[in-house]
Amino acid sequence: MRDDKEQELLLNTMYRELGVSDPVLAYGRQVEAKLAERFVEIDRTAEYNQLKVLRAMQKNRVCAEHFAASSGYGYNDDGRDTLEAVYADAFGAPAALVRPQIICGTQALYLALSANLLPGEELFSPVGKPYDTLEEVIGIRPSIGSLAEYGVTYAQADLLPDGRFDYEAIRAAIGPRTKLATIQRSKGYASRPTLSVARIGELIAFLKQCKPDLICMVDNCYGEFVEEQEPTEVGADLIVGSLIKNPGGGLAPCGGYIAGREDLIERCARRLSSPGLGKEVGANLGVNRDLYQGFFLAPTVTAGALKGAIFAANLYERLGYRVIPDGSESRHDIIQAVELKSPQALCAFCEGIQAAAPVDSYVTPVPWDMPGYDSQVIMAAGAFVQGSSIELSADGPLRPPYTAFFQGGLTWQHARLGILLSLEKLVEKGIVTLA
Ligand SMILES: *Cc1c(COP(=O)(O)O)cnc(C)c1O
Repeated sequence: MRDDKEQELLLNTMYRELGVSDPVLAYGRQVEAKLAERFVEIDRTAEYNQLKVLRAMQKNRVCAEHFAASSGYGYNDDGRDTLEAVYADAFGAPAALVRPQIICGTQALYLALSANLLPGEELFSPVGKPYDTLEEVIGIRPSIGSLAEYGVTYAQADLLPDGRFDYEAIRAAIGPRTKLATIQRSKGYASRPTLSVARIGELIAFLKQCKPDLICMVDNCYGEFVEEQEPTEVGADLIVGSLIKNPGGGLAPCGGYIAGREDLIERCARRLSSPGLGKEVGANLGVNRDLYQGFFLAPTVTAGALKGAIFAANLYERLGYRVIPDGSESRHDIIQAVELKSPQALCAFCEGIQAAAPVDSYVTPVPWDMPGYDSQVIMAAGAFVQGSSIELSADGPLRPPYTAFFQGGLTWQHARLGILLSLEKLVEKGIVTLA
């Protein structure tokens, strides 16, 4: 058997081979040593959520036949229907739509909104500006096919400067035409705090008090399995997310989900397929096993990503960078923002994340004009599934304060390497000096 010292030398050699220098590794080890207690807490949440998913799978009698491919119309696809029941039960929702035909999170959100808002009705965000890609969906930035083109108007109440809900502005904004409130759980590319499920519950209670029949929808992207509860368990009528984020567990090759009230989900299904067809159609083309197995792994995969985020926060905070959430804050999504203060530093950070990847580790990421975003964006990802951001990835718009949004890591061990290499690149370029 190897003793601790030998083991450490072996690891250090391996890190050196992968490009992490001894001083950077030592710095990382010092940061990591202080995180043991928080990691225990994350593992406990994962334990609960793992049991929750297992309970849902057992209750719905998941069996090998459910993994079979269906083709064509996909009539009588029991695997598809059972997967939807599993999602609904795990998320404490009456119904769910879980489909590979939903391309991404943006489409899932567009689907939920366009299915449940009719001309003349108003969409309302009580938590400020939504995620960048929703601006064109809603028509905040004019766009062909936007909700605005179909006569759906939009209103917004911003958060107060300290991050609290502006209850007065919210009450004032809700009118007879207000039909659906969209609440974004994660901060996305904004510098506000992410909302906890408990705070979302408080907000929904207030919204329902203002207008009992208001549909409350939560953009749940990046939030799944971070806490023991999902927003559907605190009053949300709909939650929406992407399968190439948390709930796909890294195995789902594509897809999105919407979970919530039966009548609202039925409208979404009809919007996705067509009136009269609804949930009855949609071939799974053989992806079911990955969707089931990914959902099964999602609680522990999310835990690994969370550990990576907390490690990054503490490491960069110690180096003097502003990080959101900060090193000690409680977590409600897997995104970590690091304000890198210069385009050079943002690019170096992303280069490090890229260099740690299992796929495409040899390429250098460069900023580009990405569809749906209004400034150039740099993205680092060496993923098994293109664009999958439950896999280790970093991105950020090239605008001050040059914030890198870091997320994912199918394993904590991989996330750690990525963060160490991001620091290595900053040191190599002379942007950071380790004391
Ligand atoms: C990722 C994300 C979306 C959009 O999802 P895509 O899959 O990239 O289209 C929407 N809202 C939030 C908060 C997100 O994080």
